[in-house]
Amino acid sequence: MAAGSLADFERLLRRAKIMEALSLAAEVFLRSTPETWEQNVLKVLEKLGEARNVQRVYACKNRTAEGKLFLFLKYEWLQHGPDQVLEEDAATLHEYAEVGLQGWAERLTRGEVICEPVKNFLPHELVWNVSTSAQGLIIVPVFVGEEWWGYLGFESAIEGEEQCSVPEVEALKAVATTFGAAIRNKRMAEELAAEKTSVALKVEERTRELKLAQAELKAALYHSKEEKARLTASIHSLSMGFVLTDREGKVELFNHAVNQILGEKLTDWTLADLIQRFEGLLDFKDLVGQAVNEMKEIRVDEVKYQEKWLRLYFTPIKMVEDDGRVIGVVCLIEDMTEAKELQRARDEFFAVASHELRTPLTAIKGNAMLIEHLMPQVRDRPEVAEALAGIETSCDRLTAMVNEYLDVSRLEMAQVTLTREPFNLVELVAGCMRGLEEQARGRGLAWELQLPDGTEIQVKGDKSRTEQVVINLLGNALKYTSQGGVYVKVTRGQETVKVAVYDTGEGIEPSEQAHLFQKFKRVGDRVYARDVKEGTGMGLYISRLLAEAMGAKVYLEKSAKGQGSGFVLELPLG
Ligand code: ADP
Repeated sequence: MAAGSLADFERLLRRAKIMEALSLAAEVFLRSTPETWEQNVLKVLEKLGEARNVQRVYACKNRTAEGKLFLFLKYEWLQHGPDQVLEEDAATLHEYAEVGLQGWAERLTRGEVICEPVKNFLPHELVWNVSTSAQGLIIVPVFVGEEWWGYLGFESAIEGEEQCSVPEVEALKAVATTFGAAIRNKRMAEELAAEKTSVALKVEERTRELKLAQAELKAALYHSKEEKARLTASIHSLSMGFVLTDREGKVELFNHAVNQILGEKLTDWTLADLIQRFEGLLDFKDLVGQAVNEMKEIRVDEVKYQEKWLRLYFTPIKMVEDDGRVIGVVCLIEDMTEAKELQRARDEFFAVASHELRTPLTAIKGNAMLIEHLMPQVRDRPEVAEALAGIETSCDRLTAMVNEYLDVSRLEMAQVTLTREPFNLVELVAGCMRGLEEQARGRGLAWELQLPDGTEIQVKGDKSRTEQVVINLLGNALKYTSQGGVYVKVTRGQETVKVAVYDTGEGIEPSEQAHLFQKFKRVGDRVYARDVKEGTGMGLYISRLLAEAMGAKVYLEKSAKGQGSGFVLELPLG
């Protein structure tokens, strides 16, 4: 009992020492910093070694790589030798299976403590990392959280049953748990530190980015100021008046030309000012609204503003990349007075010149006829007779041309007074047809007129001008048709009557059709190679001006290249 009591006492004493080492471990690890960590581990190992009176205490650390489990000796304390901390490398790293410790690995993973006299181990288990002088061995697994980190090893020079007693093993287990917790603590501290550094780095990076963005923003601001200055200068240098408004017409910007054109000296233009200045001429606010709603440019021509002629454009400002929203309107005011006066002077000159041309033309023709009359013998000289005939026909063509020019300038200057008398359109068309019938038949062309029931369609208007338009359409049909014929159809509608002239001639390309009815416009390249015998390119233009002046319309109904055309004169009834 006495011996038993002594053994009990010793066991208690060892346990107390281990517990002392444990409390030291807890305290030391708690205060550990990354710098003091390794020293502290060795200190704890030393304390444990002394407590258990063993010759060697060490810690082996696991490493998994490529699906295999390795281990290496990390920390070592020797009773009679130097401590050491080893680094993981190819030389220190061993695979469990290779050093014969596969069996240990399996037991330790389960949390078992291996505590045996050395003689009980299998030979291959003693090849690696067991001192030759070792008699007893305790191996305690260390876990960091769920992860098996490695183990603590205790080598004693003497073997004793008592070292594997339950209280002692439990105490060592507690040491291993504390060690695992300390490692976990250290890892977390390291992660935190790493995170702190990365946060610091990120903050630094963001600050740099922010500075860069700020610099870019400044540059952009500067650039936009420059752009604005350029734009403002351009707007002010415009000779046209420029007014920028929002969607409701509130003036946001205007240039000097507005004051110049409108003869004002306002330092601030408002919508109310614009409405008031154009009162009776146009509704400024309404036009802005119209441009916004219809999303298209609106042009107002011939605005007589005091002594001036103005043209106004209202253009919506669309945000193209932004679903085409309209954010405002640009109103341009163009002073057309000078251009209009120039046009007028040109027209007048044209009218006078044309008029003056007629006198010598009449004289030339008259003289040619006089020669024929006074010298009948010239008829015997065919070349002279031909020359005289040439003079006469050329004079006729020229006179016709001059008359056309005169017509145009008079019509454009609104100097033509049209009569308004009732007449029978059927009779008029039939008369025109008769006049050209001989020419058509002579060229082997069909020449037909199709009338509605009844022989009379009364219209009111200028009879001779109507005749002029019909003859022009018939003349063109004849001129541009070499086969087939010309078919005229008169149809009576509810409010209008139509005279349609169809031919089976050369037809007009679709691209050319849009240019018909324009001044001097002749289809294709004919405008450049004008043949006086053919025409002047003014017939349709004059027809349009005349028709419009009479409240009628002329238009191309259909035409296809090589398949003929159909032109229509549509007159109001009654
Ligand atoms: P022009 O004096 O040249 O005939 P117009 O104004 O009467 O002048 O006609 C303009 C152009 O339209 C003509 O040059 C011609 O090319 C084309 N055109 C007019 N009528 C016809 C038609 N019936 N068939 C084909 N082309 C025509």
